[in-house]
Amino acid sequence: MASNDTDVVIIGAGAAGIAAGRRITEARLHCVVVEARSRLGGRAWTFNPHSACPIDLGCGWLHSADRNPWRELAEVQDRSIDKTPPPWMRPSTPIGFSPSEQAAFLQAHREFYQRLDSFPDKKPDVAAASFLEPLGRWNALINAVSTYVSGAELDRVSARDFLRYEDSGVNWRVVEGYGTVIAAHGRGLPVVLGCPVQLIDHSGRRLRVETRHGSITADAAIVTIPSALIAEENILFTPRLPEKTQAALGLPLGLADKLFLSLSHAEEFDKESRLFGRTDRSETGVYHFRPFGRSQIEAYFGGRLASQLEASDDVGFLDFAVSELVALLGSNFARRIKLLKLKRWGADPFSRGSYSYALPGKADCRAELAAPVEDRLFFAGEACSRGDYSTAHGAYLSGVAAAEAVIAARKISR
Ligand SMILES: Cc1cc2nc3c(=O)[nH]c(=O)nc-3n(C[C@H](O)[C@H](O)[C@H](O)COP(=O)(O)OP(=O)(O)OC[C@H]3O[C@@H](n4cnc5c(N)ncnc54)[C@H](O)[C@@H]3O)c2cc1C
Repeated sequence: MASNDTDVVIIGAGAAGIAAGRRITEARLHCVVVEARSRLGGRAWTFNPHSACPIDLGCGWLHSADRNPWRELAEVQDRSIDKTPPPWMRPSTPIGFSPSEQAAFLQAHREFYQRLDSFPDKKPDVAAASFLEPLGRWNALINAVSTYVSGAELDRVSARDFLRYEDSGVNWRVVEGYGTVIAAHGRGLPVVLGCPVQLIDHSGRRLRVETRHGSITADAAIVTIPSALIAEENILFTPRLPEKTQAALGLPLGLADKLFLSLSHAEEFDKESRLFGRTDRSETGVYHFRPFGRSQIEAYFGGRLASQLEASDDVGFLDFAVSELVALLGSNFARRIKLLKLKRWGADPFSRGSYSYALPGKADCRAELAAPVEDRLFFAGEACSRGDYSTAHGAYLSGVAAAEAVIAARKISR
C-alpha cells in the first residue's frame, strides 16, 4: 500500500478516477487511487497497445470529439486522430440491405426520433419503445441499434434519459487506441493496482476504506466504480447508503461486446464499411469491416443477444458471427475469418456490463447517484453524468466535477 493515510482516496482507476486523481493532485492535495484490476483504464482498454494493430475492447470512439477532453489529451500525447466519419453515419454495404431498404429504414429511424423528441418534459417518463410505430417494418432494426447505443432494447430504456443525452455528432478515433490515451493519463498518479475495496466506514471523524490489502484513512473519498457494482453492494458502506443502492438500481449497465476477427483478402471490402447481420430481427450483430483499413472485422453485439452469447463459450460468439456472415456472403466466407479477440464485459467482475442506461422513470437517478454524502463521500463515473452518460468523456467530466467538489468542501471546512 503506497500510503495508509491520505487526504482523498479515489476508488477505481478508470476514466473518472484518473481524471479525479489528476485534478486532486493539481490542487496539491494528497490522494491514493485504489484499483481492483491489475491495469489502469477500467472499461477503457486497448489490447496489444504496442502492436501495429492496437484494438479497443472497450471505448473506441471519441464521441462529441469537438468538445471531448480526451481528444485534447490525445493531442497533447501526440496521438494520431482518425477523423473518418463512423460507419453508422454512412450508407451500409448493400448486401442483404438494398439502398431503397436503407432509405426506408433511415426514414423510419428519423421519424422514431422525431416522435421521441416531441415527448413533453412534464409527462411521466415512459419506455423509449413507446415511440415505435405499432407493427412498424423497421422496429426490429431500430431496436437492434438501441442494443448497440444503450446496451439494451428500447422497452428497458427511459425516454427522458435518452432525450437528455448530448451528442455533437462528431465521432473520431485514436489510432493508438482510446484506452491507450486514458491509461497514459493515469501514469504517475499514486495508484495501487490489484487492490479491490471492500468497505467504506463513514461512521467516524475520518473515513476508513478497507481493501483486500489493508485499510486507508482519509478525509474524503471519490467512488467511481460502475453503477452495477454499487447496485450489487459490492462495496459495503457503514452506515449503509440505501439511497445510493436505489439510484444505482435505476441505472443498470447495458451489455455490448466486441468480437475482433481477422479477414483474409480484405481488399474485396471497402475500408470502414458496415453490414448488419439481419435487418428483420433485433438479435443481430453489426459488422464493421476494415476498421482503420486493417484486415479485420469488428463485430458488435448488444442487449439480450450479447447476454445469451456470454452464457456460451468464445465459440458461441464466433459461431453466431460466422452464421450471419455466411448467410450474407456465402459459405466460403467462413474460411476467411479467424477469432482475434473477444471481451465479455458482463462476466467481468469489475464492471458487470458495458455502459449505463436508465430504466423508464429513473432518469433522475443519475443526479441522485452523483450527489455527495456528508460533503466527504463523492461519486463519479459515466453513470453520474446527466448528458454524457455511457461515455468515457462523461466519466472524465464527472471525475473532474467530483474532484472540484472535494476541493471546495475542504476550503469551506478550513
Ligand atoms: C464494448 C464497449 C464499447 C464502448 N464504446 C465506447 C465508445 O466508443 N465511446 C465512449 O465514449 N465510451 C464507450 N464505452 C463506455 C466507456 O468505456 C465507459 O463509459 C467509461 O470507460 C467508464 O469510465 P468510468 O471511470 O466511469 O468506469 P470504469 O472504467 O468502469 O472505471 C471504474 C474502475 O473501478 C474499478 N473497480 C471496480 N470495483 C472496484 C473495487 N471494489 N475496488 C477498487 N476498484 C474497483 C474497475 O476495475 C474500474 O477500473 C464503451 C464501453 C464498452 C464496454
